[in-house]
Amino acid sequence: MNTHSDLDFFEAFPWNKGFELGIAAIDDQHKQLIVLINRLVNTLIHNEPMKINDAFNELAEYADFHFVTEEAIWEEHLNDDEWVASHSHNHASFLPAVKAIQEEEAGKPLHEIIEKILRFLTRWLAFHIIDDDKRLAIAVKALESGANIDEAKKRAELEMDSSINILIDIVLTMYDGLSSRTLNLMRERQARIAAESELKQANQKLAQLSITDQLTGLYNRRHFDEVLDAELKNTMHSKLSLNFFLLDIDYFKRLNDRYGHQQGDIALQQVAQQLQSLCQRQSTYAFRLGGEEFAIISVTARKDDARHFAETICDSVSALAIENKDSETADILTISVGVVCGTPPPSDNRDKLMHQADKCLYFAKRNGRNRVVSPADLNEQSLSPSSVSFIGQKLT
Ligand code: GH3
Ligand code: MG
Ligand code: MG
Repeated sequence: MNTHSDLDFFEAFPWNKGFELGIAAIDDQHKQLIVLINRLVNTLIHNEPMKINDAFNELAEYADFHFVTEEAIWEEHLNDDEWVASHSHNHASFLPAVKAIQEEEAGKPLHEIIEKILRFLTRWLAFHIIDDDKRLAIAVKALESGANIDEAKKRAELEMDSSINILIDIVLTMYDGLSSRTLNLMRERQARIAAESELKQANQKLAQLSITDQLTGLYNRRHFDEVLDAELKNTMHSKLSLNFFLLDIDYFKRLNDRYGHQQGDIALQQVAQQLQSLCQRQSTYAFRLGGEEFAIISVTARKDDARHFAETICDSVSALAIENKDSETADILTISVGVVCGTPPPSDNRDKLMHQADKCLYFAKRNGRNRVVSPADLNEQSLSPSSVSFIGQKLT
C-alpha cells in the first residue's frame, strides 16, 4: 500500500505496462529514467534549488548511460542500419534539449518551469519508448527468430501500424491514474479545509473562554482591563462620556454563611444575568471582577443618564428578591455602586478611574449600602439622613 499522501510525492509520470519492450535490460533502465523524472518534478514542486540541480544532473547522467547501453544492443543486432543511426541521433538531441530548458527557464515562475519540463520529458520519453524503441525491439525479436534484416524491419513497421490500440490503452490507463490521484487530492483538500475550519472554531472558542468568567459567563477581569484601556483611549479625545460603574454585593458573606456557598454561587449567577440583560445596548459591557464584585463600562453620548442607569442597576438587582435575611440593609440581596462618568481628561488612566470608583463604592458602603455614589457625593457629609446611622459601623 502507498504510505505516502498524494501531497508528499507526486508521481507525475507513472510507468505503464505498454512501455515494456520485452528486453529486460532496456525495460529496467526505462523504469529508472521514469523514477528520475518523477524525482526531478518533485524537487521542482517542493522548490528545493540544490536538489533540483542534483536531480537534473542525475537524470542527464543516467540518460547518457542508458543511451550507450541501448545503442549497443541495437547495434549488436542491426549493425549500422539507418534505424540505429536515426535512433542515436534522437538520443544525442535529448541532453542539449534538457540543458536548454534548464537554462532558459531559470528565473521564471516555478509552475511554468514545472509544466514545461514535465511536458518535454514525458513526451520525449513516451514517444521514444513507444515509437522508436518499440520498433527496434520488434525488429530485434524478428531477427532472433531467424528473419533477415529486411523482413525484420517490415514486420516491425507492420506491427507498429496497428499499435494505435496499444497507444490508446496506455493513454487511458495513465488517464485513470491521473484522475484517481486528482480525486485523492480533492479529498485531501476537503479534509484540510474542514480541519482548518475546526481549528479556527476551536481558537475562537479558546479566545472567548480566555475572556469569560467561568461561574457567571460575564467577561472576566482580564478583558475588563483591555476594554477599559481601549474605551479610555476612544473617549479621551471625543465628546463621548465614559461611564464606569463599580458594583459590590452587600453583606454577601452573610448570605454565604446562612444559605451555603452553593446558594451564594447561584445568587452570583442571578445577579450576573440581570446585569447582562441591562447591558444589551451598544458599547455597554458587564464584567465580574472577582468574588462578589462586578463592573459595567458604558459609552454614551451624554453623561447625565449614567446616574439614572446606576439607579436602575441597583433596583433591578433588588427586584430579583434574592433572600439575604442576615443583611443589615434589607432582608434581600442588594448592591452598592460607585459611578464615575464624563469625558476622561488625557491624564486619566485605568488605575486612576478605578481608584475614583473605589472611593465612591467605599463611601456607599459606609453610608448605608444599597445605593449609588458618584464623586460629587463625596463632598457631602452623608447621602441621606437614613444612612447617617451606618457611618462608623464596622465594615464586613
Ligand atoms: P460588604 O457589604 O461590605 O461588601 O460585605 P460582604 O460580605 O459582601 O464582603 P466581604 O468581602 O466580607 O465578603 C465577600 C464574600 O464573598 C466572601 C467570599 O467567601 C465570598 N465569595 C467570593 N467569591 C465567591 C464565589 O465565587 N462564590 C461564593 N459563593 N462566594 C464567594
Ligand atoms: Mg460585598
Ligand atoms: Mg467585596
